[in-house]
Amino acid sequence: MKVLVLNCGSSSLKYQLIDMSNEEVLCIGLVERIGIDGSILKQEKDGVEGKLVVEQPMNNHQDAIKLVLEAVVDTKFGGVKEISEVEAVGHRVVHGGEKFAGSVLITDEVMGALQECVELAPLHNPANIMGIEACEAILPGVKMVGVFDTAFHQTMPKESYLYGLPHELYTKYGVRRYGFHGTSHRYVSERAAAMLGKNIEDTKIITCHLGNGASIAAIDGGKCVDTSMGFTPLEGLIMGTRCGDIDAAILPFLMEKEGLDAKGLSDLMNKKSGVYGMTGISSDFRDIEDGAKSGNELAQVALKAYVQKVKKYIGSYAAEMNGVDAVVFTAGVGENGIGMRADIASNMEFLGMKLDAEANNVRGKERVISTEDSNVKILLIPTNEELVIARDTLALVK
Ligand code: ADP
Repeated sequence: MKVLVLNCGSSSLKYQLIDMSNEEVLCIGLVERIGIDGSILKQEKDGVEGKLVVEQPMNNHQDAIKLVLEAVVDTKFGGVKEISEVEAVGHRVVHGGEKFAGSVLITDEVMGALQECVELAPLHNPANIMGIEACEAILPGVKMVGVFDTAFHQTMPKESYLYGLPHELYTKYGVRRYGFHGTSHRYVSERAAAMLGKNIEDTKIITCHLGNGASIAAIDGGKCVDTSMGFTPLEGLIMGTRCGDIDAAILPFLMEKEGLDAKGLSDLMNKKSGVYGMTGISSDFRDIEDGAKSGNELAQVALKAYVQKVKKYIGSYAAEMNGVDAVVFTAGVGENGIGMRADIASNMEFLGMKLDAEANNVRGKERVISTEDSNVKILLIPTNEELVIARDTLALVK
């Protein structure tokens, strides 16, 4: 079966066409600037030089998906001869609230439940819903599956997901920790157990998904017991442009001092903070590392603060689980940031973590990067959320 995996953002759409008989990626693409000037689709196919580039106005996700469906049958860069070969579509959905603890076949009832989750993720879920509706309109009757970023974290116990707030805010509005990047945490923890040669039920794993957005999860026996992102993807680590954990009392203080309203505060914390806000340089960690190397003190401090925060979470999750067998690094910074991994894993011998500097000197390859005698294995595992979405889609439509 060939599965199309769609990840719809508000103005972008990432996609992959995967042949599930061997899990080969047949083609991979990205549409940007949907609904704004300069809409563009780019698609690549492994083993074929160059790129398919389509520049034409796309007013909405339906326009974009129409072009995607033309692109995947392109004779040079496409993955199938006819669109009827695409038997199912897997959609990434950011927020499933408490309604979805696993992936589901999309039905009218599911669409209703997704609408109810919009309030929880106003920036993300509407785009995911538009993607599903657009597919339904263009490929009527095609089987579709929703795979949620929040689902894997639904196993968290109450003590992990309830905040120290009045309980009625949870019952009235669903104010609680949900956690995000669940598809990635799930994939890398399963790979980690395989690399340890253990049954996942017998493992304690801490997964560090360090990308532009970043989160950490404590996974005991294959089940998430805690994670650093919360009610929204803002909580936890210092990120590219997001502040992560801060004293909540800073917010009313800034409302008064800077005359900010709710949107102003949200923009400040989500878009103008993180290493970008701390340094004024960039949200890209490579630029921050360059800045630090050339002596920029703010960049040096931002990197140290970032590293310290990751260490804090690793320490607290090891305490929460009463031990840890493996710490996993994944996503952009986790997979490529050699220096960053070294800094995070250094001075952690008390916990039984010993990094092998030579093994660590690699980007984007699945491997053990701790020494032979390290009690806690340190693993570098490139994430593959699209493959998880395709696998879940196959399993549910079968
Ligand atoms: P997201 O999916 O959240 O947008 P990614 O997982 O793609 O993010 O990660 C993107 C980030 O990875 C970039 O912001 C960049 O800082 C970081 N990154 C990529 N390559 C490197 C590298 N060689 N060294 C350090 N950081 C890197």
